[in-house]
Amino acid sequence: MTEGYGLVHKATIVIDNGIITYAGPEADAPSGPATNCHGTLVTPGLIDCHTHLVYGGNRASEFEQRLNGADYAAIAKAGGGIMSTVRATRAASEDELLKSALKRLDSLLAEGVTTVEIKSGYGLDVETEVKMLRVARKLGQQRTATIKTTFLGAHTFPAEYKENHQEYVNIVCNQSLPMAFKEGLVDAVDAFCEGIAFSVEETEAVFKVAKKLNLPVKLHAEQLSNLGGAKLAAKYGALSVDHIEYLDEEGVDAIQKSGTVAVLLPGAFYYLREKQAPPVAALRSRKVAIAIATDLNPGSSPVHSLLSTMNMACVLFGLTPEEALLGVTKNAAKALGLADRGEIKVGLRADLAFWDVERPGDLAYPLGFNPISAIMQNGQFSKAFA
Ligand SMILES: [Zn+2]
Repeated sequence: MTEGYGLVHKATIVIDNGIITYAGPEADAPSGPATNCHGTLVTPGLIDCHTHLVYGGNRASEFEQRLNGADYAAIAKAGGGIMSTVRATRAASEDELLKSALKRLDSLLAEGVTTVEIKSGYGLDVETEVKMLRVARKLGQQRTATIKTTFLGAHTFPAEYKENHQEYVNIVCNQSLPMAFKEGLVDAVDAFCEGIAFSVEETEAVFKVAKKLNLPVKLHAEQLSNLGGAKLAAKYGALSVDHIEYLDEEGVDAIQKSGTVAVLLPGAFYYLREKQAPPVAALRSRKVAIAIATDLNPGSSPVHSLLSTMNMACVLFGLTPEEALLGVTKNAAKALGLADRGEIKVGLRADLAFWDVERPGDLAYPLGFNPISAIMQNGQFSKAFA
């Protein structure tokens, strides 16, 4: 019997060498040794397709200052904001970054997350951008989860190039990105296209280098205003456009045609107390694949839970619980260009999460409750049934 979510009751999954070779009713399954899954719900391992979880320092004191009445401009003037994270990330050793990032990563993994994307972007110089990506790669060696790395040298302009944007774009295009690529540290290239960050033209300069290196692109676009970044991203066949609160009809049309995934980040929307929600109805009616992610970062989204993010996407953006689940599985895989996971289907990787819940809708319903029972990564239990 199936009902919504592609749910199959009394199901069996057969795995051979980390790959799903059967998924369907128990009655039709081939016989063989079996693990009893105790009547749990099985979903694909969750995928967090947008994080900035490698960084130095801490911004909790700014959160405190703001709530004690300090305004953002004053905090930034006193050396706070993103530049404080940049300074701390530059000053931190690889080991220090690794140690702090592992804790954040483990918080995600504890909720059945088996694939995580991690961006650079707090170095803003050649050495530190490369260092961040090296740390991200090491995280992938220390845990069984898959880590996908994204180069985000075009995150913001560092203080030393505030008055000379062109020079910094040149450094990203001619030094940081090629260097990180040469070390094999880049799976995709991202930029922050916004009035306070990179213009459409500056973003395109970075995309051109990505294209030359044969790297897929993604874009932080239309978060605070509509510059037309999504249209540019679509032109370059982007894997995803992320945030997109201000995406207009034309932008929806462009990403629909390019098959680009719309990644919604409700954590940042929540922390920034934004008012304009992304155009979910338009995305839905055009059948654009919608993914959701934590955007885990120290400034606008210190969110360490993908389950909570599913809930926020439902409450704040009106996604259905089924859309939220698709957004952290099948569509999140697509946002990372991963065709080998995200569904429980013959031929795909056996990355699975086992939940002690009644129905799939129970995953997006609570806030701060983790009903995980077991986690399987590539056919092996990384967390076994108790
Ligand atoms: Zn982001």
